[in-house]
Amino acid sequence: MLSNVQQSLADFYSDLNKISLPEDAIKYSEPLQKVLTSEKEQAMPLIKLCPPRVNATEFFRVLQQVAGIIREKHPEMGNELSIIEAALPIEKVEQELFAAQAFVPDINLLTSQKLDLPPETFGFLLNHTIKPFIVQYAQKVTQLRDLDQWLHGNCPVCGSRPTFSLLDKEDGKRYLYCGLCEVKWRFQRLGCPFCLNSESQFFTAEGMEKYRVYFCDHCHGYIKTLDERKAGGEEIDLFWEDIKTVPLDILAIKEGYCK
Ligand SMILES: [Zn+2]
Ligand SMILES: [Zn+2]
Repeated sequence: MLSNVQQSLADFYSDLNKISLPEDAIKYSEPLQKVLTSEKEQAMPLIKLCPPRVNATEFFRVLQQVAGIIREKHPEMGNELSIIEAALPIEKVEQELFAAQAFVPDINLLTSQKLDLPPETFGFLLNHTIKPFIVQYAQKVTQLRDLDQWLHGNCPVCGSRPTFSLLDKEDGKRYLYCGLCEVKWRFQRLGCPFCLNSESQFFTAEGMEKYRVYFCDHCHGYIKTLDERKAGGEEIDLFWEDIKTVPLDILAIKEGYCK
């Protein structure tokens, strides 16, 4: 059973999931083989090695659709959305620059575009606009890397912190999951993915025995984990698992841990 908060999250995300992209919405240039095998670059997320190139017209089309969905599901954000929409670039060249910068991990678009806009609503709109493009990018570039060999605490595609993890039912191997790219990669069985401290502690919650929440007393990070061995044979979609387990986030945050 989902709570009201979870149900409205689920509705919001299923509307966003209906936004479709043409197959060529994102392109990238193949990195040189020697870049992929050099030790320094091996630890770098793909977004820095072969940055995505986005079709700006598609980007702004999706942005308008996302704004429409937010307006419908979160009417309280309507005013701020209108202010943001009125400030966005209209000229093609400017739109291209804006869309390109939206995919550079270290750029703050409000600063680089000299925009004085409500940062939270702007970030919310931007993140949900970027998501389908990053998912398509990830589908195209993950073949450049062996996700079973990555073994780092951050996402091999975009470099973000993992949002969820999975204990594999076959052999108990651990995988981390990026909620932005929807990519899953192998990680060591024990230890904190955020600060790499080797201790592992977890708690479980009554009625939710197939999940564990691993927490770290060094960096105060936590990560929700699905123990696939207890999940039966059902098909697993970690994106939805993340929403279904919101009560575990509440517990972890109450205990002083953060994502
Ligand atoms: Zn990612
Ligand atoms: Zn830690």
